[in-house]
Amino acid sequence: NSETILDIKNVSFQYPSVQEKALNNIDLKIYKGEFILLCGSSGSGKTTLAKTMNGIIPHLSNGDLEGNIVVNGLDTQKVEIHHISKHIGMVFQNPEDQIFSIRVDDEVAFGVECQGYKRPEIIKRVDYALKKLRIESISRYLNASLSGGQKQKVSIASNLAMLPSIIVLDDPTTDLDPISKQEVMDILVELKSEVDITFIVIEH
Ligand code: ADP
Ligand code: MG
Repeated sequence: NSETILDIKNVSFQYPSVQEKALNNIDLKIYKGEFILLCGSSGSGKTTLAKTMNGIIPHLSNGDLEGNIVVNGLDTQKVEIHHISKHIGMVFQNPEDQIFSIRVDDEVAFGVECQGYKRPEIIKRVDYALKKLRIESISRYLNASLSGGQKQKVSIASNLAMLPSIIVLDDPTTDLDPISKQEVMDILVELKSEVDITFIVIEH
């Protein structure tokens, strides 16, 4: 299997009024179905690189971007961000930054609803994602009542329900307790063998 799903070519990025480049000539090619671990020390540019993958850079962030990022055949600098986000999902370190709905099932449905699917398909996908993340039993819970680990599972489920080509998880377990860390990693490894999604896990 040698279909390229993400192609980063000679990418450099400099934040406004920061002397040093956050990314300097990055080349990275990721193939469909790979499970990638992207490691680096704090401040090495991992989150910045992730933001170039999903188009936050350059569409929602100022700064000087050079090079090319191609996601599933789309040049991220030439297409609109909502178009990129159909192909690439993102889970951030802090679950508080990414949960918008009141209840778990609403949150998992949110992205799929935004994609304009009809109700039966939305229900099917939400049920599927809740099951895969093993959070069916808390589907009616308030997000505010959840632990950090549960919230990360909700975030992963909401991405999974959209069935993107790629899911990027940026330091997803950093803020979790050891048991939740292990659970989340176990679920990802299990998903990897079951779904046709390329995973990029960023850890420091
Ligand atoms: P990592 O995720 O590997 O910890 P980051 O991508 O967050 O690294 O940061 C890379 C570098 O860019 C660091 O030196 C950081 O201080 C700087 N940086 C990150 N975000 C911004 C920003 N919004 N404005 C200016 N500098 C930033
Ligand atoms: Mg980071």
